Amino acid sequence: MSEVYDIAIIGAGPAGMSAAINAKARNKKVAIFEGGQLAKKIDWAPHIDNYLGFSKATGAEVAKAFIEHIEELEIPIIKKKVVKVYPMGDQMMVTTSGDNYNAKKLILSSGVIQRAKIRGEADYLGKGVSYCATCDGMLYKGKDVMVISDSAHHEEEANFLADICENIYYIAQYDEVEDLDERIEVIQGKVEEIEGGDLVERVKLDKGEYDIAGVFILRETVPPTEVIDGLELEGRYISVNRDLETSVKGVYAAGDCTGEPLQIGKAVGEGQVAALNAVKALSKE
Ligand SMILES: Cc1cc2nc3c(=O)[nH]c(=O)nc-3n(C[C@H](O)[C@H](O)[C@H](O)COP(=O)(O)OP(=O)(O)OC[C@H]3O[C@@H](n4cnc5c(N)ncnc54)[C@H](O)[C@@H]3O)c2cc1C
Repeated sequence: MSEVYDIAIIGAGPAGMSAAINAKARNKKVAIFEGGQLAKKIDWAPHIDNYLGFSKATGAEVAKAFIEHIEELEIPIIKKKVVKVYPMGDQMMVTTSGDNYNAKKLILSSGVIQRAKIRGEADYLGKGVSYCATCDGMLYKGKDVMVISDSAHHEEEANFLADICENIYYIAQYDEVEDLDERIEVIQGKVEEIEGGDLVERVKLDKGEYDIAGVFILRETVPPTEVIDGLELEGRYISVNRDLETSVKGVYAAGDCTGEPLQIGKAVGEGQVAALNAVKALSKE
C-alpha cells in the first residue's frame, strides 16, 4: 500500500510553506504539492517592506529564506500539479497528472483563483472543456482535440493524449516547446473563442479555426472548485470558517485563496492556523 500523508498541502507559496513547517513541528507527515515554481509570487516582488523582520529585503531574498526553512526541515516537495482530490472514507486521494497519493487532511493554499479566461471556456466546462488531460483524455478516444497550455510543465500531460486521440493540436502560450510527442501538432495563433452547440465543436483562433471535440486548457493553477467537488466559494474566494475549514470535510484553505488582504503576512498566519487545526482534528481520530 502507498504511504499515507497526515496532511497534504497544495501550493508552495507562503501559506503552504507556513502550514508545512507548523505541521512538521507537531510531528506530522506532510508533503507539499507544487505545480510551478516554489514561492514564485514573492520572487517576483521587487521589494517586500511590510513583512515583519524583512524591512529592506527583495522578494527574491524572502523567497530564498522561506525555501531554505522548508529544506532545513526536509519537508518533501512533490513538484506536480494536483488535478483532482477524491474523498475516500476518512482519507482522500490526491491525483496529479500521472500519480495518486493518499492523505488524511488537505490544506488548499493554491493562491488567487484564476477565472475562466477564454470566451466560451466557462460555458463549455464539462461539455468539451477540461482542465485535466490525464483525467478526461479517454472521453476523447479517437477524436480530434486541442491543448492550450501556459507552461512546458504540461507537455508530459499533453503527451498522454498522443496514444488516445486522433489529431492533437497544441497551442503553446510560452516561449519554447521542449519535449512534446511528435504525433502532436504545434500550431500558432491566439485563441479567440471556444464554440459549439450543446458540446464543444470548434476553437476560433485569430488565424482560422479548428474543428475539435475537446479542449484541454492546462494552466499552472486549476480552479480549486474543479479540483475538489463540493467546495463552496464566497464570491471569488474559498468559503472558510474561523478554523479555516472549508465546506468539504477534512479540507482546509489558507492564504490568497480565502480572500483579502492578498498579502504575505496573512498567508503565513492562515497557513499556521489551518495546519494547527488539521493537527488538532487528527489527534481526535
Ligand atoms: C509582484 C508582486 C508583489 C507583491 N508584493 C507584496 C509585498 O510587498 N507584500 C506582501 O505582503 N505581499 C505582496 N504580494 C502578494 C503576495 O505575494 C501574496 O499575497 C502571497 O504570495 C500569497 O501566498 P499564497 O501562499 O496564498 O499563494 P501563492 O503565493 O500564490 O502560492 C500558491 C501556489 O500554489 C500553486 N498551485 C496552485 N494550484 C496548484 C495545484 N492545483 N497543484 C499544485 N500547486 C498549485 C501555485 O503554483 C503557487 O506556487 C505581491 C504579489 C506580487 C505578484
